[in-house]
Amino acid sequence: MSFIHDLKIAPDEDREGMWFLFYGDHILVRTLEESARIPWLAGAEDLRVLPAHSFFLGTIDGKPCFTAGVEGPLELPGTSFRSLRSLLGEVEEEMFAIAGRAFQILEWERTNRFCGRCGKPTEPMPDKGAMLCPACKIQYYPRIVPAVIVAVVNNGRILLAHARRHPGAFYSVLAGFVEPGETFEECVCREIREEAGIEVENIRYFKSQPWPFPNTLMVGFTADYTKGDLVIEERELVHAAWFEPEEVLRLEIPRNGTIARELIDWFLAGRGSSGRHNRP
Ligand SMILES: [Zn+2]
Repeated sequence: MSFIHDLKIAPDEDREGMWFLFYGDHILVRTLEESARIPWLAGAEDLRVLPAHSFFLGTIDGKPCFTAGVEGPLELPGTSFRSLRSLLGEVEEEMFAIAGRAFQILEWERTNRFCGRCGKPTEPMPDKGAMLCPACKIQYYPRIVPAVIVAVVNNGRILLAHARRHPGAFYSVLAGFVEPGETFEECVCREIREEAGIEVENIRYFKSQPWPFPNTLMVGFTADYTKGDLVIEERELVHAAWFEPEEVLRLEIPRNGTIARELIDWFLAGRGSSGRHNRP
């Protein structure tokens, strides 16, 4: 599958294509047996339900993709709205990424209709993918909020925490938003220090994942423990501890398709056992 990004005006007036249609944070899918697919809409019956205002997203294997928001449920046989989050790991990774991109573009348009400085209505700049304030000339691009997510390893064990916002016994790696003026590496050190009371070193980039809930870019790292006793930040966490691989397998951990799970799988594959060996 090859997706080519393009925010410019669609090549022709024909709106036949793959449609990423959102009703709030729910996306329209066609349900085939147990699997959900982004619908291909064509023909008068399908196209009549589409809203007048839409964005051209680009093409997938040469086929046009559009996104739009709707105000209510649509009457399209065989389709239903599902929460975007529920499609994670169920549709292809690249298809999920395009759906996330579509959602973020709609969210950006909804939240930038007026200039944040002078309050006047903004105007779309279709060739730039920005909204422009005609008075201040400020260009508003989609907001992307970076956050780090970190697998800290220590002598063959991984640091996992149970956060207050999660029900049950769900454990995951630590994460937090980047602050102004901060590098990713500084953010990793600060987050781990604030949430777990320990120091880390040997911070290595792992991979990144757009996380459209609503507009985060998760940047994954691995790091080695150096010193300090585990002291958790009690407003956010209930419990944090070092876990051996066999113990991790007994926990409730993030689902497939998330970078958190990939970091934990990286550890379980024995990749986290190299590096320094320090016991707290
Ligand atoms: Zn303005």
